[in-house]
Amino acid sequence: MRAILLRGGRPLLVERPTPRPAPGEALVRVAIAGICGTDLEIARGYFGFDGVPGHEFVGTVASAPGARRWVGRRVVGEINVACDSCEVCRSGLHGHCPRRTVLGIAGRDGAFAEALVLPLRNLHEVPERVPDEAAVFVEPLAAAHRILDQVAPAPGSRALVLGDGRLGQLAAAVLARAGIPPVVCGRHPEKLRRLERLGLRATVSPGDLAREYDLVVEATGSPEGLRTALSLVVPLGTVVLKSTYHGGAAIDLTPIVVDEVRIVGSRCGELGPALDHLASEPSLTEGLVTARFALEDAAAAFARAAAPDAIKVLLDVGGGAAQLGRVAARGEARGRNRRSRS
Ligand SMILES: [Zn+2]
Ligand SMILES: [Zn+2]
Repeated sequence: MRAILLRGGRPLLVERPTPRPAPGEALVRVAIAGICGTDLEIARGYFGFDGVPGHEFVGTVASAPGARRWVGRRVVGEINVACDSCEVCRSGLHGHCPRRTVLGIAGRDGAFAEALVLPLRNLHEVPERVPDEAAVFVEPLAAAHRILDQVAPAPGSRALVLGDGRLGQLAAAVLARAGIPPVVCGRHPEKLRRLERLGLRATVSPGDLAREYDLVVEATGSPEGLRTALSLVVPLGTVVLKSTYHGGAAIDLTPIVVDEVRIVGSRCGELGPALDHLASEPSLTEGLVTARFALEDAAAAFARAAAPDAIKVLLDVGGGAAQLGRVAARGEARGRNRRSRS
């Protein structure tokens, strides 16, 4: 199969053996994959990951030993694969398994390839009414939903989202849907205009904002964002940290103590609620796709994704709908009468 590896920080198209799923796993033909900030960081060498990158995808199950009912289903996947046997896993915290692999990020080849392997328990079937172009956003959308799992803001809370990138955009949509439409502060007029079209207040100047927010979501990707968050959150308020900072961040911790601010680190969420959200709000991802490239043009795609004005750049891996149809048809022929939709 064709796959992307990162060599000297640049995506390179290579031939790799198609992976073989074990019982309990599925081979998924990737249709579309999304490039995210983490992929750009992997290219810069931050994660020490040497395999095929890519963790945002939608595809079709091509084979699943012992579980033919999965074959032909259109799926997205949870990216963390826990060991299932350590103490952390046994206590139910699979997402924090110290031995976990992470699709396209740690110890497991990812989605910038024609096919990937994931355990069946990681897969979620995509509802028919959610197109591939929307389904590919499920992982970042789940990361946005994670905020509400962790924080549960009271009705009438004032919320602020710092950052107008993909995660900021999705976090704003999730908070608005939960009845606390946030103000969004970003740097890119074009991205902020999209939020204004959704009826949200957006600004480029944090200086225009008062210190009045019960909840601040920090999704800027820069340590400056956390400083701004701490200057705008009310005493006893909550700051949700979505950014990871490489090389550390020099932050004055005194206001956190004095104002008893709660800082909540927040990573991935569950895909189920995010899929439901996509199914119930088809316009949710409109205007988020900056550009689409073929897999062989991954170098150009990475360059486009790194530009400041880009929100989401997609890789068309499966060659579009026709190819997908063929894979699905093959799957159906294989699954024949034994296939069940339950
Ligand atoms: Zn991502
Ligand atoms: Zn474990």
